[in-house]
Amino acid sequence: MFNNESLAIFEKISDAFLVLDREWHITYINPQAEAFMEKKRADVLGKSLWMVLPETVNSTFYMKCHTALKKGTMSHFNDFFAAFKRWFAIRIYATEEDIFIYFLDITDQKEIEERARVSQWLEQAILDSLTATIAVLDQQGTIVVVNEAWKRFAQENGRYQDEQNSDVGTNYLDMIARVKEGDSDFDDAQKALHGIHAVLQGSSTAFSLEYPCHSPTQKRWFLMNVTSLPQLPGAVTTHIDITARRLAEEALRASETQAKHLLDSNSIGVIIADRNYILQANDAFLKLIGSTQEDVRNRCVTWSGITPPDYDDLDQKAFQELLERGVWTPFEKELYRKDGTCVPIEIGAAQLQDDPRQFICFVLDISERKEKALEHRKDDFIGMASHELRTPITALKGLTQLLERKLERQNIHQFDPYLSKMEAQITLLTKLIEDLLEVSNIQAEVLDYDKELIYVYDLLHEVVETLQHSTKMHIITLSEVAHQTIVGNREKLKQVFTNLLSNAIKFSPYANKVDVKIVPDTHKVIISVQDYGIGIPQIHQHEVFQRFYRVRDVQRNYMPGLGMGLYIANEIVQRHRGRIWLESVEGVGSTFYVSLPALS
Ligand code: ADP
Repeated sequence: MFNNESLAIFEKISDAFLVLDREWHITYINPQAEAFMEKKRADVLGKSLWMVLPETVNSTFYMKCHTALKKGTMSHFNDFFAAFKRWFAIRIYATEEDIFIYFLDITDQKEIEERARVSQWLEQAILDSLTATIAVLDQQGTIVVVNEAWKRFAQENGRYQDEQNSDVGTNYLDMIARVKEGDSDFDDAQKALHGIHAVLQGSSTAFSLEYPCHSPTQKRWFLMNVTSLPQLPGAVTTHIDITARRLAEEALRASETQAKHLLDSNSIGVIIADRNYILQANDAFLKLIGSTQEDVRNRCVTWSGITPPDYDDLDQKAFQELLERGVWTPFEKELYRKDGTCVPIEIGAAQLQDDPRQFICFVLDISERKEKALEHRKDDFIGMASHELRTPITALKGLTQLLERKLERQNIHQFDPYLSKMEAQITLLTKLIEDLLEVSNIQAEVLDYDKELIYVYDLLHEVVETLQHSTKMHIITLSEVAHQTIVGNREKLKQVFTNLLSNAIKFSPYANKVDVKIVPDTHKVIISVQDYGIGIPQIHQHEVFQRFYRVRDVQRNYMPGLGMGLYIANEIVQRHRGRIWLESVEGVGSTFYVSLPALS
């Protein structure tokens, strides 16, 4: 069958080699085939191949052998022999008489291939399992590998939704360059182009960029990282969704801004403190206690330094509550100012989360609230006192008149001057008490006037006449320009003009006249009371209508009064839908005007 030379070759070659007759009987087996079949030549020669390798019957190998035999052609294929756990590249030649079979053991090569396949698969699986979107670029910027997240990202985001746009084969740089000038992300795209280019060219090893990728319904941010590949040209590009972080940062910034606004706002004092020191304070707080930022920085503002000893117990309780509950219920106390005076405040606090030894306090200046409460108590007191005083004064007045009548009947006149002085004093006292009561009624808003038709001239005439009796120095003139009628409470309006006239007389001790004028207007009447007295300094002119307001200067020191007259007059005029104002020049005199709605 073979000559000796070729036999020697077959004996030596590294491939297994079999020769069979057309009945599948083995006629030659080389040592390599003996080895891989784990059979001895003597045991297999003359035997059918299918008897020697029964496990291969009906296998691919079996089929291919039969086809080759039938068609008389050469067959070439790879097959795995499970029994020997080996891969072979098999060649079968069939001639008229023989069948030749070569087995080239390719198990090692297959293993290498398989390992490469598995590792490639593993790499891809690992890449795909990552949430970061990853693409590998070659040196030209063409995408050579992408993971699943990248594909999803490409599908979900932006203009380049068509998958080819950012899948393997696309040039990533070209894709970014498609962002046009004027697009909102143009600047970011330019930065990205620059950065990726630098990494691909090797002039830098990494580049990163945070960029927004907002849709109409969702705000999102991504972090792009581009890193050069070790030892290979190209780069790895990843995009990580950093929306959660950015939103948290934004929320933090917003709350920090809010806290800063609060700290900077001058409406409320805000401090951060520990048990001993005020560590930080806003300007509102510093203004409240008259200290400076410098004092705070130098740790000169201490709790013990700003707390009057009376409040030590309250403070102690508050600190205890802060320890137990993390907050203390706001309470009222006082703080020392730097100048030693006290300011009433309300103070609440909450522990800081980062450092429970520190806490933030909100400090509210309640001086005004306290003052109002005090005012309220004062009003109540005035109301009650004037009410209580009225009864004994009325009794006193009655008794004086009784005494007067009794003495008169007994024809005793030696006490007359004393009695009339007593009466005058009682009248003064009664007027004072009535005024006090009126002020307290105004405060309590319990005034309700009966109104009637009044001829302004008649009313003023009556008042002028009465007042003229009280002064010997002044001539009071009443010049009437027109007859005007108004609707109002006669007694109350008399009270207004009585007050204006008595002030005019009282505050013009060196003048000899007071002028009263009635000036008609379309729908109103204006009455002016002009004196030529000491006048009212400009700065006090707005204040004189306030309750208990008196201008204090040397000239007025000896002039009696409690600052109630103009306040009451203003209230009465306002309740008649009118207005009261004044013009005055110090040392020249004052004119008070009252305007009231007139009946046409
Ligand atoms: P009083 O009872 O003190 O007079 P008023 O309310 O009537 O209270 O007046 C308030 C203050 O306004 C007075 O204390 C006085 O200083 C000033 N005043 C009022 N009328 C005049 C005036 N005609 N001339 C100068 N000062 C006046």
